[in-house]
Amino acid sequence: MDAAVEGRSAERLRITEIFHSLQGEADAVGWRTVFVRLTGCPLRCTWCDTTYSFHGGEWRDLDGILAEVASYDARHVCVTGGEPLAQKRCLLLLQRLCDAGYEVSLETSGALDVAAVDPRVRKVVDFKAPASGEQSRNLWANVEHLLPHDQVKFVLANRDDYDWAVDCLRAQALAERCQVLFSPVQGQLAPAALAEWILADRLPVRFQMQLHKLLWGDAKGR
Ligand code: SF4
Repeated sequence: MDAAVEGRSAERLRITEIFHSLQGEADAVGWRTVFVRLTGCPLRCTWCDTTYSFHGGEWRDLDGILAEVASYDARHVCVTGGEPLAQKRCLLLLQRLCDAGYEVSLETSGALDVAAVDPRVRKVVDFKAPASGEQSRNLWANVEHLLPHDQVKFVLANRDDYDWAVDCLRAQALAERCQVLFSPVQGQLAPAALAEWILADRLPVRFQMQLHKLLWGDAKGR
């Protein structure tokens, strides 16, 4: 191993958990997937279901992370958080996972710049609706970096969120760039109500519920 490669292998990331489950959302839903959850997030969405990833975690080097991912023998890997892009070396992890031949997805809040993400990665950009309390953090310049295999996700807590998301969909011509996903906040918006609104408005969006929550509730590591 030359010195440059060796140096990069020694790069470390703070990791909350690495686990093996079924992908619960977005385009790869249902596939057996290894999740790499990075620690830390600069946002505080009111309905966040991964607050345990805000602090703590363990420093892990890239080779160790890659080895644990490989141990599950899965084709899909999802890098998530927290907000994974809050750690700059996340970009290197994504690149290494792609180089290793995995189908790689990245779950990101929409608040951090995605321009430098490896184009082989399927980005799932979760722009924040008003009820999240973090609407002002949306970095709309990220729209310019969406590729056809990427996805924009809106997690919606009420009708105001829905109307806002429809406005964004149209103003940013999002459906012409990539898939757009609408999901209800669990326990706040009835899934059937969201489904009816999408049908009534004939939206070019894909309705989603979180498969892992239907299967396992809010269990950590699922
Ligand atoms: S961006 Fe994600 S991890 Fe961060 S507070 Fe919002 S929902 Fe939670």
